[in-house]
Amino acid sequence: MAVDATRDSLQQITDSLRSYLETLKESGVTGLPGRVVAEIPAPVRALPEQAPAVAPAVPPQPVMKKEEAVAVPIQPQDMFVASQLENVTTLEALRAGIGDCRRCKLSQGRTNIVFGVGNPQAEVMFVGEGPGHDEDLKGEPFVGRAGQLLNDIITKGMKMTREEIYIANVVKCRPPENRNPEPDEVATCQPFLLKQIDIIKPRIIVAWGTFAAQTLLQVKTPISRLRGVWHSYHGVKLMPTFHPAYLLRNPNDKRLVWLDIQAVLREMGRL
Ligand code: SF4
Repeated sequence: MAVDATRDSLQQITDSLRSYLETLKESGVTGLPGRVVAEIPAPVRALPEQAPAVAPAVPPQPVMKKEEAVAVPIQPQDMFVASQLENVTTLEALRAGIGDCRRCKLSQGRTNIVFGVGNPQAEVMFVGEGPGHDEDLKGEPFVGRAGQLLNDIITKGMKMTREEIYIANVVKCRPPENRNPEPDEVATCQPFLLKQIDIIKPRIIVAWGTFAAQTLLQVKTPISRLRGVWHSYHGVKLMPTFHPAYLLRNPNDKRLVWLDIQAVLREMGRL
């Protein structure tokens, strides 16, 4: 029992460290200063995932049921969210209800609310983390260079059009300096994404990038371990994969995204 507990604890530390490093990598950080590395406690640095005597590698499971999302409670003080959201049945009504939203502090620096675009009856829905600079200016998710790569994945890889898919984000306003959205911001905005999913009723969700996958699944597992296997998000099959912006910096990992997209296409009966 004590050995199991120690192993679980060490695995959690390893996962957290790997997740943190992946987040840095996705943010464009290519290395750590030597001083910081030197300050990492020896026991942590001595815990690579291959440490065989302590934490043997666990093969990924087809579906990680224990990682199913936990519904974010709706803020009771918001009359639209609390009393009317459950009666909203169209995306247009949802967008109207969100209005010129000031419910969280992300409203302070945004240019446009990036609500979402695409087919309101889409079979597959893409979810990113939040708008960046280009998305904020245009009011549309996944534009700019990362958006162009996503378009290539859709048109050249999936043989579909962007209009056949619905694309949205976990939060609808751009975080300053492209930082990750904070927990209170996610908690405030996530009911809108949940409602979009409820209205669209996609068969499949693709979560693009560390933050979107970890937020939807309510886990801290690194994207490198989440991707490639099916998860469940409120009963909808969810495939996490790397963010297109990450792929622009790490083109060698495009082959892994293609594997994930192939799994999506197989599930859709298109491959
Ligand atoms: S991020 Fe969401 S909750 Fe926050 S201001 Fe924008 S739309 Fe409103």
